[in-house]
Amino acid sequence: MDPQTHFLFPFTLSVLLIKLHLFSWQLALLAGIIGVIIDLDHYAEQIAHAKTNRFSLKATWNNAVRFHRFNQRSFIHDGIGAILITIVLCILAFLTWQVALALALGYYSHLLLDYARLKHEKEFCWRLGSLYMKESHLEIILDILLVIILVIFFLI
Ligand SMILES: [Zn+2]
Repeated sequence: MDPQTHFLFPFTLSVLLIKLHLFSWQLALLAGIIGVIIDLDHYAEQIAHAKTNRFSLKATWNNAVRFHRFNQRSFIHDGIGAILITIVLCILAFLTWQVALALALGYYSHLLLDYARLKHEKEFCWRLGSLYMKESHLEIILDILLVIILVIFFLI
């Protein structure tokens, strides 16, 4: 999924927790930001595996969206990485459960959204300058729904 969805999903869940007086705006922002920055591992994988344009953010983006020359997901996207992060979050929860929950919302929602992506979804593809863009119909609907939910939360 794209960065805006990785932000909106945990942020919207966090705003619900704000409405229930369990969370602060700072923690909601943290959850959203964590949801996005999990994909920074794509850049690390680009540096480690790319034959050309190793440090190019544009090449990293285009490889993730269009070319798929190598797997950009590092160990934190599944398997042993998820187990290690779960252990760290459990330990952190004893120190500060709210921060641990914000990190967990960002991290697990990211994994959920990545793995929820269907292989044969219809997608809009276009170019924004030299960047390839791709967005599935389902993701657009999800983004619109999340924004509507956020607007409702802000109004009540
Ligand atoms: Zn991801």
